[in-house]
Amino acid sequence: MDSIVGHQQQIRILNAAIEHNRVAHAYLFDGPDGIGKKLVAQIFARNFLCESANGCGLCASCSQMAAHTHPDFFTLEPDGTAIKIDQIRALQPQLVLRSFAGRGKVCLIDSAELMTHEAANALLKTLEEPTAGTLIILISSRPDSLLSTIRSRCQRVRFNRLPSRELARHLEKALTISAAEAKVLAAVADGSFEKALGQHQDLYLKKRAGLIQSLSALSPTSSIQTFELAQALKAEKDTIDEILNLFDVFFRDLLLVQHGQAEDQLINQDLLPLIQQQSRQLSTPQVMDKLEAVARARRYLSRNVNLHLTLDHMLMQIAHA
Ligand SMILES: [Zn+2]
Repeated sequence: MDSIVGHQQQIRILNAAIEHNRVAHAYLFDGPDGIGKKLVAQIFARNFLCESANGCGLCASCSQMAAHTHPDFFTLEPDGTAIKIDQIRALQPQLVLRSFAGRGKVCLIDSAELMTHEAANALLKTLEEPTAGTLIILISSRPDSLLSTIRSRCQRVRFNRLPSRELARHLEKALTISAAEAKVLAAVADGSFEKALGQHQDLYLKKRAGLIQSLSALSPTSSIQTFELAQALKAEKDTIDEILNLFDVFFRDLLLVQHGQAEDQLINQDLLPLIQQQSRQLSTPQVMDKLEAVARARRYLSRNVNLHLTLDHMLMQIAHA
């Protein structure tokens, strides 16, 4: 699992703490959603509990981690919309008992900002009186919503979005796709593993080029193409936000080319001939009008304006810009 995680700097620092016996009682991993914080926490836990203290992958502890059956590893996640006091209370006695394997105990608390006030106060007690060998890892994309008394008890590890280039390298290996595809996927997923590996992968990799080609073919005289694209988009209503985002990114690529951006900096790397052709054919104000038509459609949809009307209107404006 380490092979696609990124965040090598954070992992190196955490491993050094294990190696030098300097692991803190509690950590707070903070950073945007979907970038791999939990995966790093799982790797840290595995390495901490490993009999060789390095995540050897061979010992009994590493095997139990891989099989999700480790008796000294606990994960707390929101039960519904919150992490409740009962969940913390159920955890507490586990943490003071001797560990089964003798290495220690680890508890990972995901979306820690969703602890109720009572749950947070209960956890605070555990953080204030830590048991030797017990490691608590809080994960949060909104650390400012945590009690400051909890934050101050934790060693903070910050995570940033992966640079697109780094994410692309990981995706290329993980998905066995071409370098160009990986670059597009990393860019449209905005540096997020979860997005890149998630449900929209098919849209990003397979449907995107076709949709953008249809979009580029719209003109004031192309009423049939406009109708057909409208039908195609209406059939994709679950992913319409993502599709509008792709249109937005495409028109931005055109603007960037018109303003001298190097082509290797563009997002739609696989559509360079189309981008070159369109950026010559259209004026900057025309591209901006198309971009505004997409932006307006997104505003309408966020206010629950009728999807079909919104899409018809948007495509008409794009065709006539
Ligand atoms: Zn091991």
